Amino acid sequence: MSAPLAPCPFCGSNRIERRLFPPTTEGPAARQTGMVSCGSCRVVGPTQTGQSLDEAIERWNMRASDSPF
Ligand SMILES: [Zn+2]
Repeated sequence: MSAPLAPCPFCGSNRIERRLFPPTTEGPAARQTGMVSCGSCRVVGPTQTGQSLDEAIERWNMRASDSPF
């Protein structure tokens, strides 16, 4: 379905969860907000309102590869 998820940069867990939150505004411009979080240490990936789940995954993976972990 979508891009693979890198392990958590903080605890190394592979239990990464994808989440999708409903729009915070109404109307045609409203978008769901995708978020990625670690199912082990509960850290949440970089979030930007209105980002798609794919964008959230992309940001998560970018941070994961930036980490010295
Ligand atoms: Zn973690």
